[in-house]
Order: sequence, then C-alpha cells, then structure tokens
Amino acid sequence: MLSNLKPQAPDKILMLIEEFKGDTRQGKIDLGVGVYKDPNGVTPVMRAVKEAEKRIWESQTSKAYTVLAGEADYRNALAAMVLGDVPADRTASVATVGGTGAIRQALELARMANPDVTVYVSDPTWPNHLSIMKFMGLPFVEYRYFDNETRGVDFEAMKADIAKAGKGDVVLLHGCCHNPTGANLTLDQWQEVVAILEKSGAIPLIDLAYQGFGDGLDADAQGTRLVASRLPEVLIAASCSKNFGIYRERTGLLIALTENAEARDLTQGAMAFLNRQNFSFPPDHGARVVSTILTDDGLRGDWMAELEEIRNTLLGLRDQLASELRSLSDSDRFDFIARHRGMFSRLGATPEQVQTLKQESGIYMVGDSRLNIAGLNRDTVPVLARAIVEAGI
Ligand code: PMP
Repeated sequence: MLSNLKPQAPDKILMLIEEFKGDTRQGKIDLGVGVYKDPNGVTPVMRAVKEAEKRIWESQTSKAYTVLAGEADYRNALAAMVLGDVPADRTASVATVGGTGAIRQALELARMANPDVTVYVSDPTWPNHLSIMKFMGLPFVEYRYFDNETRGVDFEAMKADIAKAGKGDVVLLHGCCHNPTGANLTLDQWQEVVAILEKSGAIPLIDLAYQGFGDGLDADAQGTRLVASRLPEVLIAASCSKNFGIYRERTGLLIALTENAEARDLTQGAMAFLNRQNFSFPPDHGARVVSTILTDDGLRGDWMAELEEIRNTLLGLRDQLASELRSLSDSDRFDFIARHRGMFSRLGATPEQVQTLKQESGIYMVGDSRLNIAGLNRDTVPVLARAIVEAGI
C-alpha cells in the first residue's frame, strides 16, 4: 500500500537550507530560512524564556494531560496580548500546535460552519497557506496584494479583489509583517478593509505570526484590534514561535470572536472538538512558558525589552541596507526596504537574478527574492548591497 504513495515535492525553503549547508565558500550568506538570528547568526533562547522554564521545572509536579482547549491562563494572557481588551462574552479560544495548527483548524472550523466556503488569500502569501488549502481540498482565490513596481501594497487592486468575497467566505489577512513581502496595510487601509467586510459579511482570518517584530507589540496588533472591535465574527491564528523564540515548542492560539455568547459556546465546543480529532490535547510546555512570562511583571518586562532589541536590530539593518543601496545605486528605488516591516522583504528580483546572487556571491534567498533581514549583520549588509547592484536588480 505505502508504495502507492506519490513523492511529495520537496519544500523549497528546506532545499535551500541544504544547498546552503553544502556550499563550502567562505562568506556565504543565508537569507532564506524564516527564523530570527542575532548578529552572530544565533537563534537565541530568550532570557525570560530560560527563566520561565527554570521556574516551571522547579514548581511543576505533574505532566498529566492538560485540558482539550489548553490552559486558561495561557489562552487568556495571549488573547489579551493580541486583542488588548478581550470581549469575554464573545471570545472562544484553543491552544494549538503552533500558528500553523491554528491556521489549519481555523480553516477546518470555517468549512464545518460553511461547507461551501471559499478562502481569499493574498498573492503572494506564506506558501504553507496555499499548500494546506490544497491538501484540504478547500477552494481558494488569490487577491492582488503586492505592487512589483513600488514594492508596496497595491491597495486599490486588493480592495477590488476582496470585495468579491461573499457572505460566509473567509478572507485571510496577515496581521502585520506580511510574509513574504514585508509590505503592510496602514491603519487607514485596515479601516477600508473592515468597511468592505462589513458590507459583504465575509469573515476575516488574521494570521498573526510576528506580533512585536514590526513596530511594537501594540502597534503590530492595531489592525487586528480594529477588525475585532468592528466585525461580528473574526478568526485569529496567533503564533508564539517568533516573538517568544520558541519555534520548536509549537505554541499557537486560535481565537474566534463570535456574534454573541451562545455562538461563542458553540464555537468553543467545535474548536475543542477539532483539537480532539487532530491531536487530542495540545502541547503545554511552550504555552506554560508564555503564560508564566505574560503574567509576571518582571519576566514580562524583560521579555518585552529583549523583543524590542530584536525589533530594533531588524529596523537598524533595514535602514543600513536601504542607505547603502541608495548610495551605491545613486537612486531611492530601494527605500522600500526601510519602509517594509518584519523579518522579510521581497526584493523584486527575477529568478535569474536570485540565481546570480547565489552563484556569484554565495547569497541565498528564496526564489521569489524574499530575503530574511535577520540573516544579515552590520558587516554583511554592504556585501549584499554591492551584490544586488552588481546583479543589476
Ligand atoms: N504564518 C506565517 C505568515 C508564518 O510565516 C509562519 C511561520 N513561518 C506561521 C504562520 C506559523 O508559525 P508556527 O507554526 O511556526 O507557529
């Protein structure tokens, strides 16, 4: 039976990692993989995470199962971090296996509620969005998002396309730090998106995987909070992988805002059911680390300070790269790098130019020219800038 399986297309980003490892050149630069790296190339365990783990190790007396929805302390603390004020009478939530698990289950929930659902998704988007929907057999339509000329959001096109989503359809939005482009909506544009969804009755699913990596914890959630305050039904898939640096602990939260308390209870039940079907009880360690940090003033302050350092490192590298490119290219056409937010920017290079950067300069980025700013440091920024200009990008 198993020999009937068809080979799966290898993940392009994972292939790139392998290719990078096999490259023996000195000075090669990895801008492919989607994890934060400090200027020494290390993905650190954050200080508050270490301390929380120590406290958990000292105090935990049992590792019996948690509850199906995950611990309430975690769900409440993370929902508050995302939403600011949590409207308890209309908020359902379950702990999930990472942000990916929350997205997957949000889509399953949408299909349970509306078997005819179509999902509207940005073009481009995180490739796993598309791959999960294809695997689920879920119909989806891409909406225009990125303007290859300005490297900003093509907002008129986006509005025209998401307006086609009907009542009971889902519109998948990146809450902040759009992956892969780095181009984001302004608060005014979020207002307009809300007005479109208000009119059509389509439901937003907000993928919030980088809260704190763009302009700050609250600033990065402002679009999500606006949507949550204005629309009757909202799905949010939050991930703690990046902002707590606990990638491998698989810590996520699916939040659903519902029309009323009755719908909240139904939704809570359906989401716990989905946990049960998919993996039963959710992972607890990462969730406990997060709730330990968020509910202790000292740990929370230290975590926020370290997150701020990460954010400022990214912003500093963006500014440095944009300014190097300004002087080397004698133009402002790369200023978008300083305007983008989060870990990624789409450079707008052709596949051939991406190939040239790899072959000539040992600079690895994803084929669509997404570069991970965190793969740089102050010394490698000028190297990249020179290679970009030499490749004629
Ligand atoms: N959404 C986006 C846009 C992402 O980039 C990622 C991580 N690469 C995720 C969701 C999922 O994160 P995780 O499952 O690791 O929590």
